[in-house]
Amino acid sequence: MIRFHDNGAYDANFQREVAVCCPRCKGRAYVFSDDNGWRAKNAALSCSSCGYSAQWNRANPKGPSVGVVKRRCRYCGRWLERKYFGLPHAHLARLRCAGCNTEMREPITWSRRGQVDACDPYFGYPLWLVGEVKGKVFWAYNSAHLSFIRNYVQATIRVREPNRNSSLASRLPHFLLDRKNRSAVLKEIAQLERK
Ligand SMILES: [Zn+2]
Ligand SMILES: [Zn+2]
Repeated sequence: MIRFHDNGAYDANFQREVAVCCPRCKGRAYVFSDDNGWRAKNAALSCSSCGYSAQWNRANPKGPSVGVVKRRCRYCGRWLERKYFGLPHAHLARLRCAGCNTEMREPITWSRRGQVDACDPYFGYPLWLVGEVKGKVFWAYNSAHLSFIRNYVQATIRVREPNRNSSLASRLPHFLLDRKNRSAVLKEIAQLERK
C-alpha cells in the first residue's frame, strides 16, 4: 500500500528551477528564478553544455506575450482592436478601420501570456521533461516535480487535505491517474528520470 499525502503543493512551487531545452544546443539547460511562477521578478537561463545564458525580468519580459492595441478610429469613432501573440517588439501596430478604411499606427501594449503548455513560464522555451503516453502529453518542471508526479501515480491511497481543490495533485491530467495507463505512465516517467 503506497500512501500519497496531498499537502496542496502547486505547480508554481516547482517553477524556481526549470529544466528546458537549450535554445542554442538543444541540450538540457536550467532556468532559475527568484520566486515562484507569477511572483518571480527575475529569471536566468544557463546551459552548462554550450555556455548559453539569458536574462529575463518582469519589467521587460521576453517570453510568450500578448500585445493589444485598442482605440477609436480617429475619423469615424468606431472601436478598433487587434491582438498579437509571440515575443514583444517595439514596432507600431497598423490598424485599419473597417468602417471608413482609415489607417492608423499605434504602439502595442504587451503583457505576459498565461502559462503555455510544456514550456517554462519565463522565456517560454520547451521543457526538458516532457513525456507522452498514448498520444497524450504530460510534463514536469524539474526532477523534484517529476518525483512528485511519480509518487502520486504510484499511490494506491491518496489523502487530500480539505479545501485544497486547486492543488497540483488535483489538477494532474486524468489520463495520468487512469488505472489502465498506470504502468505505461510509470515506464515513461522512469525513462524521463534517466534522461
Ligand atoms: Zn546549450
Ligand atoms: Zn473609421
